[in-house]
Amino acid sequence: MAIQDKAYIDGRWVAGNLGCFDVDDPASGDIVARVANVDLDQVEAAIDAASNAFEPWRLQPAQARCDRLMAWQLLLLAQQSRLAELITLESGKPMSESLAEVVYGASYLKWFAEQGVRAYGHTLPALPGGRRPMTIKQPVGVVAIITPWNFPLAMIARKVAPALAAGCCVVIKPAAETPLTALALVALAEQAGFPAGCINVVPGIDAAAIGQRLCASPRIRKLSFTGSTAVGRILMAQSAAHIQKVSLELGGNAPFIVFDDADLDLAVDGLLAAKFRNSGQTCVAANRILVQQGVYQAFVSKLREKVLALKVGPGAIDGNNIGPLISQVAHRRVSRLVEQALSAGATCSAVGTDLPGRFYPPTLLESIRPSNPIWQQEIFGPVLAVTGFDTEEEAVRLANSTEAGLASYLYSDNVRRVMRVAESLQFGMVGVNEGIISTAVAPFGGIKSSGLGREGGQEGLDDYLETKYLCFGS
Ligand code: NAP
Repeated sequence: MAIQDKAYIDGRWVAGNLGCFDVDDPASGDIVARVANVDLDQVEAAIDAASNAFEPWRLQPAQARCDRLMAWQLLLLAQQSRLAELITLESGKPMSESLAEVVYGASYLKWFAEQGVRAYGHTLPALPGGRRPMTIKQPVGVVAIITPWNFPLAMIARKVAPALAAGCCVVIKPAAETPLTALALVALAEQAGFPAGCINVVPGIDAAAIGQRLCASPRIRKLSFTGSTAVGRILMAQSAAHIQKVSLELGGNAPFIVFDDADLDLAVDGLLAAKFRNSGQTCVAANRILVQQGVYQAFVSKLREKVLALKVGPGAIDGNNIGPLISQVAHRRVSRLVEQALSAGATCSAVGTDLPGRFYPPTLLESIRPSNPIWQQEIFGPVLAVTGFDTEEEAVRLANSTEAGLASYLYSDNVRRVMRVAESLQFGMVGVNEGIISTAVAPFGGIKSSGLGREGGQEGLDDYLETKYLCFGS
């Protein structure tokens, strides 16, 4: 599988009208590819292509659309190693995680291939006068998809699969840091036999202009975005012009609560999984660690030992757990956040291997007060911020004191407490004695400023469908 570096518009691989932009390897900083940089005419051409492809695509039998998705997922699995190498090359994550991402991404193609044939409407009981109401489900239309670099394959699969299964066509703007995986993924879609125009990819470095153009087009009927809350706000405002539907998967600030009655070994392992995947650069990463005083010392001492055992180094080298951060900017941001945390009274009780470049050492911070900046922001790096609490009420109040509402985690063996706390947490998702919660079969998404809509589950398909009501006279 050769590296694909062109844009994909209307079934053709095309050079960028604005030349190329560089993609680098975060582990070494070396330039690994030069990718097509599209201009706004090319964005418009992609919208044209998707609009023209939409009618024939939506009119295909659902089974035919879903057969293409199923073929695509088989190709993904067959090319698992090659795709994983690309993910590691441009995002820096360890190979084991990249392999897992391919399987995870493929699971969305499969899930929506299966769900797409079940987009049922309803027939409703007769109304007075013999009128008969019914509902049918129809695709929303052409969808613009804008995705981040932290899961360069899966974030696209989670959106494209339900869109195509529903009968929509798509224009994808991948993150400028990781376009290679997006292009490789779509090259496999081409092999799977999707008609020209159904899927278009417009890589480019002027994200703001591309986003504006996608929102300005009345032919784009939905915008599906994963990324920062700041950009989500801009896109939501822009999409008001044509009342485009929006799905927004935005930033989190996940609490991870360990109660006195928790299984501590399970909790430590769950925390490592929830925190250190992709060097802490995930939206569901445990961000604020709350440990009840009765087990605080025991928990932190087990945690410290495991943090110090993490292996830092290039993701391509077998056995490394912590790869580099995506960019120097990200490295500076995390360094600054840790410095601010220490000046605000935090103490540092463990620091792992510190390598040069974009690598940030796994770090354990304690004595964090809720006013500490590190408590209020998404860290997006391999840094644990831990504090103690006394009562269940205090834990819930601290956990909920954020504008974010994506993932949350709680560890306890008391089933009544688990139900009480899970119901009180103001988050779209709660991991109960579990640190890895994302799966194609369940609705992934946030509340409050973490976004709108759900990806995965039946809900993930509904987000790409309109419900139309038909009224039959007697
Ligand atoms: P980002 O800066 O918001 O970028 C995400 C995408 O938006 C990229 O494709 C980016 O393009 C594009 N973009 C940037 N500015 C834009 C604009 N003005 N108009 C239109 N598009 C624009 O986010 P990030 O730093 O890459 O990703 C990290 C954030 O994503 C974190 O907050 C994380 O929590 C969140 N995230 C959320 C989920 C979830 O499911 N809730 C999953 C993963 C990540 P360029 O790359 O070209 O700048």
